[in-house]
Amino acid sequence: MNDWIDLRSDTVTQPCAAMRDAMAGARVGDDVYGDDPTVNALQEYAAELFGYEAALFAPSGTQTNLIALLAHCGRGDEYLVGQEAHTFRYEGGGAAVLGSIQPQPITNQADGSLALADIAAQIKPRDFHFARTRLLALENTIGGRVLPREYVAAATALAHERGLATHLDGARVCNAAVKSGLSLREAVAGFDTVSVCLSKGLGAPVGSVLCGPREFIEEGKRWRKMLGGGMRQSGGLAAAGLYALRHNVQRLAEDHDNAAFLAAELSAIPGLAVSTPQTNIFYVDVPAEHCAPLAEALAAERIRVSMAPRLRLVTHLDVHREQLRQVAAVFAHYFKN
Ligand SMILES: *Cc1c(COP(=O)(O)O)cnc(C)c1O
Repeated sequence: MNDWIDLRSDTVTQPCAAMRDAMAGARVGDDVYGDDPTVNALQEYAAELFGYEAALFAPSGTQTNLIALLAHCGRGDEYLVGQEAHTFRYEGGGAAVLGSIQPQPITNQADGSLALADIAAQIKPRDFHFARTRLLALENTIGGRVLPREYVAAATALAHERGLATHLDGARVCNAAVKSGLSLREAVAGFDTVSVCLSKGLGAPVGSVLCGPREFIEEGKRWRKMLGGGMRQSGGLAAAGLYALRHNVQRLAEDHDNAAFLAAELSAIPGLAVSTPQTNIFYVDVPAEHCAPLAEALAAERIRVSMAPRLRLVTHLDVHREQLRQVAAVFAHYFKN
């Protein structure tokens, strides 16, 4: 699908030639025995980069988040989480199904945050009527929005004061860091554990890393095995992840610039409401009657989107400025008629 302009997600990227070379040349071993030197190198590198004692490589972000929830919470425990959060809404209810962990969803504010008062109000008293509130799970970026650093500091401090652990679904935390001009360590400050996707804007084909305290990661390995995420000669995949972390973090700024460019072009079209992107994701409100014919007009020009009345557009390392000019032109032409 290389000749399509694909704006559905930043998960659609193809590994570049240099990444493929790194994968092909990777030294490998059986990682269930801890023998894969490239997986070990990725885990050590990620732990260092994000400022944690240890890290664990797993096949997906859904799995690293689930491992974290299972390791933080036990049966009858509860985690506080946003209504819009991936770990609540988009992971098949895994924490409840597989962990007997109750989510306590909280309405997200317009900026993606959870109000501190809402967090405080949902921490249950130690009383046998209630689930035991164990964990605050935040997400950054969330729907392309960056949580402000001061907010993250206040929310994680509140959680810790009340005896909760903190987990960050940092699938796109590198976007947040680059946008905010923070180091990766600064961007995850306050979180006991963080899950980072290598397969989104960073451009690796597969994988996520979970970072945290050494003991927690040891416990996480047990859960990863149980969930079927113990892989064998996975160093080829880890090599892609290492390449992504070494080469593709700072370039996320290009994706952010490209999203800003496309959003500005589209917002010039009368009748289209376009959100202002903070990072590489933004939304266009497409009047319902235009959804199907607009999707058709885009597809005719080999442009792929997940059409919806609230259309999400995502930039990434396989779409370039010139292609976005074409996309804007197709939108403009369609709405001219
Ligand atoms: C993609 C994503 C995940 C899960 O990653 P998969 O690798 O697709 O399982 C988790 N959280 C957020 C915010 C994501 O965007």
